[in-house]
Amino acid sequence: MDRLNPFKIAQEQLDRAAELLGLDEATHSILREPRMEYHFTIPVRMDSGETKVFKGFRVQYNNARGPCKGGLRFHPEETIDTVRALAAWMTWKTAVVDIPLGGGKGGIICNPKEMSQSELERVSRGYIRQVGRFLGVTKDVPAPDVYTTPQIMAWMMDEYEIIMGEKHPGVITGKPIQLGGSQGRGDATARGGIYTVREACKLLGSNPAKATYAIQGFGNAGQFAATLHHDVLGGGTLVAVSDSRGGIYNKDGLNPHKLIDWKLKNKQVKGFPDAKKDITNEELLELPVDVLYPAALENVITKDNAGKIKAKISCELANGPTTPEADKILSKNGVFVIPDFLANAGGVTVSYFEQVQNTYNFYWTLEDVQHMLDQKMTNAFKAVYEMHKEKNVDMRTAAYLVAIQRVVDAMKLRGWV
Ligand code: NAD
Repeated sequence: MDRLNPFKIAQEQLDRAAELLGLDEATHSILREPRMEYHFTIPVRMDSGETKVFKGFRVQYNNARGPCKGGLRFHPEETIDTVRALAAWMTWKTAVVDIPLGGGKGGIICNPKEMSQSELERVSRGYIRQVGRFLGVTKDVPAPDVYTTPQIMAWMMDEYEIIMGEKHPGVITGKPIQLGGSQGRGDATARGGIYTVREACKLLGSNPAKATYAIQGFGNAGQFAATLHHDVLGGGTLVAVSDSRGGIYNKDGLNPHKLIDWKLKNKQVKGFPDAKKDITNEELLELPVDVLYPAALENVITKDNAGKIKAKISCELANGPTTPEADKILSKNGVFVIPDFLANAGGVTVSYFEQVQNTYNFYWTLEDVQHMLDQKMTNAFKAVYEMHKEKNVDMRTAAYLVAIQRVVDAMKLRGWV
């Protein structure tokens, strides 16, 4: 089971890059652990009148390049090691897209599907009451992640402003537009991934407009990937989609817009009238598609199924979907992996744009945001691809080499090592 501990995996990935970069022991040790973490309890009065105590975390992994940045998850199976891994990946992610931020992550062990809106509001405000003093634009800025929403970000910002007694819209990103959210934040993670698929297709000589694609996970990242592959890349056939309740398949294509309407109404993709058959999450991953988008949770491609992955490109919108053993198998079999912290960096990039706009109190158009996102993602993809060619390493290792070198440069300039 330890093999699937996401933090152990993140450390293992780092160790390989550290060896290739020839990092000294002190530098490597700093990068192997979070610099700071907070563990706390949040008592919440439930609608029933009973008080429930939730456990919360915030990890500030590394801030050499700037204030920490990273999402918040509300999940019943959240663990501190998942949060640590995600905070580490945020550090590499902000570095690989070259935005002046560090990496952080947070979470609450709770099941939002079983909570009312008012319970969710109280747990969100409780989180800020516990950890708010360690957050802020110069310290650490949270954002949405699994099962957290713009509404949750709005409650959290409001609680922070009540505590501080002044306006701080930049304390959290992924807010509703009316409260200082950025144009283009909603689809930014998927859009960034789609730009990297466009670049990968150019290099591999394939046409994304003729590609078949499958998506595991049909939340924020997965739903936008479904429509944007089609709308930005000029076509393609969405053959399969899944969520936590199972998946559906149609070799002739599923209409992404209609499917989103269905999912929003029915809370699941299963039962969609145009589906030809149901498939499991495992079967979806093994389909012979041109592009696979893992967009759910971590550790779904393991040594047990990696040999059966037939996709030509795996664009990892989810964090940590592939284990290190699986990576070796995918690389040997010639699957072109666009690694998570590159593929899904669009979200944090537009979150950074949101922070900048909040600080200036001046707001950009959707076209401005999308244009700058495209530039950031394309440059990041090219830097990683060049490293992949130059050092003859897989794309994930190449992304680590680019990102870690940038973090190390900042630590050295600060005199930490
Ligand atoms: P979300 O909560 O909006 O959606 C998650 C989706 O995954 C849901 O459709 C859910 O049904 C599905 N899911 C859950 N368990 C599953 C399982 N066992 N098998 C198949 N599907 C399952 O979350 P999201 O924001 O879309 O995040 C998805 C992934 O993308 C996560 O790994 C997250 O860390 C990553 N990510 C998201 C963002 C962002 O801006 N939203 C940014 C970077 C990375």
